[in-house]
Amino acid sequence: MRQPGTRKIFILFALVSCLSCKVYQKTAIKLDKTEWIHGAADCKENSDPPIQVVQYNYNTWILRQNKCTNYEGPFMFLFLGHKKALLMDAGATKDEKQFPLRATVNNLISKWEEASNTKVALIVAHTHSHGDHTAGDIQFKDNPNTTVVGLGVDDVKSFFKIENWPFQNSKIDLGDRVLEIIPIPGHQKASIAVYDYETKILLSGDSFYPGRLYINDWQSFKLSTQRLVDFTSQHKISYILGNHIEMTKTPGKDYPIGTRFQPDEHILPLKVKDLLLLNEALKSLGDKPARKVYDDFIIYPN
Ligand SMILES: [Zn+2]
Ligand SMILES: [Zn+2]
Repeated sequence: MRQPGTRKIFILFALVSCLSCKVYQKTAIKLDKTEWIHGAADCKENSDPPIQVVQYNYNTWILRQNKCTNYEGPFMFLFLGHKKALLMDAGATKDEKQFPLRATVNNLISKWEEASNTKVALIVAHTHSHGDHTAGDIQFKDNPNTTVVGLGVDDVKSFFKIENWPFQNSKIDLGDRVLEIIPIPGHQKASIAVYDYETKILLSGDSFYPGRLYINDWQSFKLSTQRLVDFTSQHKISYILGNHIEMTKTPGKDYPIGTRFQPDEHILPLKVKDLLLLNEALKSLGDKPARKVYDDFIIYPN
């Protein structure tokens, strides 16, 4: 039999969750309209900050490194839960004076801690081990309450508790916030994708972004792309976000390698239909790695 009070509590609970759901919807910004700092024709004249901080919603931030500090201009992602913070990637520059990643992240975390009346531990993990996403690790070496995940496949496997790499996914709970780790070797041996169940954002690292998709292991990359497609067919996806922008707004046209100025760059997010296009293209190329230009990305075997 239902207790008389239970129904009231349930209605109240539903109302509160619906309100927070509305707040969430209001505060999540539209990433296909977001303007990013994009370097400068003359970096000596550039007055943009070294790191652009964009708040996506109340507990998610996207950071972009200024191309004037490193031409790669990588993106970094900060997810906050009630127990842990997860920073995905650490940028392309070691020097804290040029690239104050630690101070930026610590500042965001302490504001969150204050607002949510909680303390969180920081995890610095990586979409893969390339230097343009790991150089800033060194800044977190002595940062309190912080774990920097190692860069090898074994480090990633053991931290995220993945036994059957790359066929098994794993989940990490930041405290009322679960993310799924999907191994996707091919661009690099330790590449992972990360899916956030709250925002439905899928991070695809350097494996899929509006730019040159450098492929180091063709067979692995093909299998990983298929697994990523399978994942997207079973999960709602809001945005697929990679680590760089190298395409211009003109379909099929990329900026030259090493440019520090991208005044007309492609938007950051890609869509599931773009991923399906990549997967079909890889299948049709079969066992023969070949460069192929599409409107929003370029297949670029090494
Ligand atoms: Zn890379
Ligand atoms: Zn990269």
